[in-house]
Amino acid sequence: MSESAMYSGAVQAAATEAPLDLGRIPRHVAQQWIDGLNMALKRAVEALYQLEDGELAAEPLPGEDAPRLILFYEAAEGGAGVLRRLVETPDALRRVAIEALRICHYDPETGADLGGAPGAPERCEAACYECLLSYSNQRVHDQLDRHKAAAWLRANLLDGVVCAGPTAAPRGEHVQRLSNLCESDLEREWLAYLDARNLRLPDDAQVYVEHCQTRADFVYRDKDTVVYIDGPHHDDAHQQAEDARITRCLRDLGVTVLRFGYRRATWDAIIEGSKHIFGGEV
Ligand SMILES: [Zn+2]
Repeated sequence: MSESAMYSGAVQAAATEAPLDLGRIPRHVAQQWIDGLNMALKRAVEALYQLEDGELAAEPLPGEDAPRLILFYEAAEGGAGVLRRLVETPDALRRVAIEALRICHYDPETGADLGGAPGAPERCEAACYECLLSYSNQRVHDQLDRHKAAAWLRANLLDGVVCAGPTAAPRGEHVQRLSNLCESDLEREWLAYLDARNLRLPDDAQVYVEHCQTRADFVYRDKDTVVYIDGPHHDDAHQQAEDARITRCLRDLGVTVLRFGYRRATWDAIIEGSKHIFGGEV
């Protein structure tokens, strides 16, 4: 698999969060410039989508010591939907790369080092406040290097293509993607249950519905349906009241709410009663 394809897969797993797989960055150099790359990409996305500073956040995962991913997330509550657009637009990643190269003072077409921001009084040697430096990454200013960030962008991201949405992905890949998003074994089990019966899979998982302050476990977008897989703690009276509030709120929006409990024996009947959503025979 090429690196850009690997990228696509990683970015595809996004709703309001988008992890970017750093793949082959050698560990010993990753720390040196991860903050710089973070900044170039973040500024590129902000510029392309006209976001205010602070609306988009980027942080290394699993941590700054040995970063393997950059996780982008929309810091504003509910988000501006930018990451979704990024995921849903096939050439968006390439456009981000081009913009990030410009931010690093490189000509994206020719690869020439432009030496600094247009009209800047002096050459930007390694980094300046127009490219990689910010007050938030002050502690690593001496390590940031726009040349390294640009070289990585050119090598890895310039040909990046974001894969099409869930329906275009092979079923196996889609199951895997959803499974990775799951927050409990019960959710994964439910997904495997659907898959084993060749029932229709949800489009997405862990989707936040701001209006109702809830994160749906799964969604079927064209059916306006959300699915919750409720573990034993949903038997708790307080939790039940909260679940009832969420269900009411979603129904008021015209959304169908389906709840699957942890008693697996009840699942067939729910599926049977909602064939227009799940299709097939149980
Ligand atoms: Zn600079």
